[in-house]
Amino acid sequence: MRIFSGIQPTGRKHLGNYIGAIRQYVEGQDRGDPAIFCIVDLHAITVSYEPAVLRERVYDTTAILLAAGLDPERCILFRQGDVHEHTELCWLLSSVTAIGELNRMHQFRDKSLAQRELVSSGLLFYPVLQAADVLAYKAQEVPVGEDQREHLELMRDVARRFNSRFAPEDGEILVVPEHRIPEVGARIMDLQEPTRKMSTTGGTPEGTVYVLDEPKAIEKKFKRAVTDSGNEIVKDPEKPGVSNLIDILAAARGTTPAAVEEEMRTARGYGDLKVAAADAVRDMLSPVRERYEELRGDEEALETALETGAEKARAIAAQTLAEVRDAMGVGPRR
Ligand code: ATP
Ligand code: MG
Repeated sequence: MRIFSGIQPTGRKHLGNYIGAIRQYVEGQDRGDPAIFCIVDLHAITVSYEPAVLRERVYDTTAILLAAGLDPERCILFRQGDVHEHTELCWLLSSVTAIGELNRMHQFRDKSLAQRELVSSGLLFYPVLQAADVLAYKAQEVPVGEDQREHLELMRDVARRFNSRFAPEDGEILVVPEHRIPEVGARIMDLQEPTRKMSTTGGTPEGTVYVLDEPKAIEKKFKRAVTDSGNEIVKDPEKPGVSNLIDILAAARGTTPAAVEEEMRTARGYGDLKVAAADAVRDMLSPVRERYEELRGDEEALETALETGAEKARAIAAQTLAEVRDAMGVGPRR
């Protein structure tokens, strides 16, 4: 079983990233042979950014992943830009990707609207590079949040199209991957605007809980979370704020939303729900923050971990690239 996922080194990682993705990575490293996790610096340059900050954020993100429990001995953790096979495969896959498909992607639409200076062509191409990330390792399983559903569908189409165009009749070259989304918490919403996903680039500062927030900040953000009228603690599409708090509490405790509703039946109001959610999230994130502080200080060790990971990743990706090039008639006859 091959597991692959990528995470952006943009901004600070938040509760949605932690529940929707990072926690699944940690669980996946004992099932993958080995599981592969990539810090996607090349995706991060598709929106406006500062080079020096990007480099810092790569180390921040690496330290968060290690603090959350990823073990470079048990999984492959690396930086995308270190493995050139990703960009080469991206280009090769563009020959089986329609421009109309890319134009329709919601992430492209949302992020291009948010750009003030320039909408880069990289932003349009983002899903092709993402397809290359996954397909280069012939991954079967991709643990990501709900927001990536559309990109996953696209990469599945690209893989199928590639195989039917270039693979021999009796076999496939690329593997069509499956989306793995968590049962609870696949889409954590902004605490201030609970109809929008919690996000690195598009959220509200007060409504975004960061993995590295101090307990006081976490408590404050939950206390001020937007709820809804009424006082019933049940999941309901009409009550996005309360539904989100129920999901967060369930995910943080490792239980179900139904169990949370049951427990909260005796609560005095939304205040109790907010306090319970804040406590559970604080208890979940505090150990990660503490380990992060230790790990982030040793940049050299982080760099060594990333370089070692890149070597292992390259060995796998290079093999896929050789097959793809060969099938496409690129380069000398083998
Ligand atoms: P951006 O808003 O700039 O795209 P992001 O917050 O989505 O940033 P990413 O690094 O793109 O962060 O996402 C990393 C992982 O976290 C992906 O698997 C994504 O699906 C997941 N994820 C992102 N936001 C949420 C959320 N609100 N709830 C659950 N999972 C999420
Ligand atoms: Mg994202």
